[in-house]
This record gives sequence, C-alpha cells and structure tokens, in this order.
Amino acid sequence: MQKKIPLLTIVVPCYNEEEILDTTIQQLTIVIDDLVKEQLIAPSSRILFVDDGSKDQTWRLIARACSQHTYVTGLKLARNVGHQLALLAGLERANSISDCTISIDADLQDDISVIREFLLKYREGYEIVYGVRKNRGTDTFFKRSTAQGYYRLMNKLGIPLIYNHADYRLMSKRALCELCRFQESNLFLRGIIPLIGFKTTEVYYDRKERLAGETKYPLRKMLSFALNGLTSFSIAPIRFVTYLGLSIFFISGLAGGYALLQKLLGATDAGWTSLMISIWFIGGLQLMGIGLIGEYISRIFLEVKRRPKYAIDVDLYTNADPLKYFR
Ligand code: UDP
Ligand code: MG
Repeated sequence: MQKKIPLLTIVVPCYNEEEILDTTIQQLTIVIDDLVKEQLIAPSSRILFVDDGSKDQTWRLIARACSQHTYVTGLKLARNVGHQLALLAGLERANSISDCTISIDADLQDDISVIREFLLKYREGYEIVYGVRKNRGTDTFFKRSTAQGYYRLMNKLGIPLIYNHADYRLMSKRALCELCRFQESNLFLRGIIPLIGFKTTEVYYDRKERLAGETKYPLRKMLSFALNGLTSFSIAPIRFVTYLGLSIFFISGLAGGYALLQKLLGATDAGWTSLMISIWFIGGLQLMGIGLIGEYISRIFLEVKRRPKYAIDVDLYTNADPLKYFR
C-alpha cells in the first residue's frame, strides 16, 4: 500500500537573526523544494519562522519571504520568551496542520542535508528522530569539556539526555501531541522529549560554525540553562546537601570530642585559626544549601502561577497579509 505523503513543517525560532535569515530562508526552501519533488513530503509543507520578539529586521525579512515563497510562513511572538518557548510556540502552532515537524536553529549550524534522512527514518515508523552531532570541533575546549561533564552528570542522575543532541530533531504528530501535554512553563525540551517514549532513533551529522551573527547563548545564559535543566529534572542536588550536612555533623562531633579532650588534658587549644576556618566553612555551606533550596522554591513559585508561556502577535500561517509588515 502506498503510504500517505506527510506534511512537514520545519520550525525555526529566530531572535535578532537579520544577518543570516535570507541565507537560511533560501537554503531551507531549496531543501523543501527538493523533498517535495522527490515526493517525500507533501507540497503544502512549510517552513515556519518564529520571530521571538527580535529588535532588528528579522520580522520584516520573514514577512517579505512569506510573500515571495509559498513554502515560507511566519509567527511573530508578542515579546522575547527565549529559545525553548519560542520553539514550543512554533511546534504547537505547526502541530495542528502537520504530520511531522522538524525543529532547527536559524543559524544553519546544523546540517540541513540530513533532513532527508530524518524523513526516511520517519517513514520507517520512528516517531522521534534526534539529530546528533558527530563532533564538537567548532566548540571551544571549555564548552566541549563542560558540555561533556554536564551530559555525564545528567545521565548519572537518571535524566536521559541524548548525548550531543541539541534541538535539531523530527517529531511525529503523535509525539508532539504528547509533548504539548507537558505543562511546565520552565521548559527544558531536550530533557522532556526523551521522557515521551515511542520509537526513537538518531541521525548523525557534522555541526558547523555559525554562518553569521553571534551566539544568543553567552556563558551566563548557558550556565543558567544548565542549572535550570538540572534543577527541573532532579532533586539529587538537594539530597547531596542533606548528605553533606549529615557528614559534617558527624565530623564535627569527632572534632568536638577531640577539642574537648585536649582541653581536659590541659593541652593548648587550637585557637583562632581553626575557629575562623570552621565558621567560614560552615557558613559557606549553609548559604549554599539555602541557595539551592531557594532554587527549587523559585521553580515552584514560577510554576504555580501557570502564566501563559507566550503570546502570538501575528500569525501568517492563516490569515494575516505579509505585505503589511514590510512595505
Ligand atoms: N533564539 C531565540 N530566542 C532567544 C535566543 C535565541 O529564538 O531568546 C534562537 C536563535 O535565533 C537561534 C536559536 O535560538 O535560532 C539558537 O540560538 P544560538 O544559535 O544563538 O545558540 P547556540 O547555537 O550558540 O547555542
Ligand atoms: Mg547556534
């Protein structure tokens, strides 16, 4: 039996990407065009650019492309909500219309020629196909080693992160529907998606340098992203502090006994230095513990409010006239 040709939507979150957007649009439309000709995807397939509240010409470029290419469409968010939520907005929008979706960054660091492989895997019946980088040659030594340590730590804690997979992946409609049922507003997609289950596979590719523009993930944001991932998936850090507290309690018992013995035997007591070290050390540990508990409480605080995750300003997928936005 001939399988139905799937309708694909490629979702591309964009934040201040004016320098690269035209190249991205051009290259992705060529890919879509080839796939349509090959009858791997339906002619109504689309590339959905999500403008995440950019301050530059990004939205104008998207709107212009929409009026020029049939495959291009756009979604403008009301403000900047960050990569993960912008991606979710695009995926949720695309899901009602598509049989499968692919998410990819606007900077073309991920090899778009493997989109074809993604689709072949989808045709074989895989519901989620992860794009996995073969190497991290384009990353600095620092980023490479910290990333490796992070993946290792997360896996040790039982969070099944796919090693070297960022947010380049294909998801079937079924998998995406399941994703949409995850309600957390503090989103860490690459941790959540492996929790969905279904039949999954990986496709390997070489990751390139950013073609133009600069990374939107400086060290500060990356650290917060990593900490976010850790604390929204595991309570292991809190448990660690509990164990640390317990161990110090026992050690201090021994040290206290020793100090008392010294005093009773009339030996000189250890004095100022040891006192200062203990106070600072224990004080530091306590602050760390409180800070960590605070991290979790702030997560609860943010989640219980159930605020909307994003607001859509313009949706070119359906009705709005793209000409309005670049004339
Ligand atoms: N991005 C976004 N909103 C943001 C920050 C980034 O939509 O607030 C988009 C950005 O335009 C890009 C993707 O997320 O398409 C990944 O960002 P980037 O390439 O800067 O991250 P890196 O590859 O350096 O980790
Ligand atoms: Mg990038």
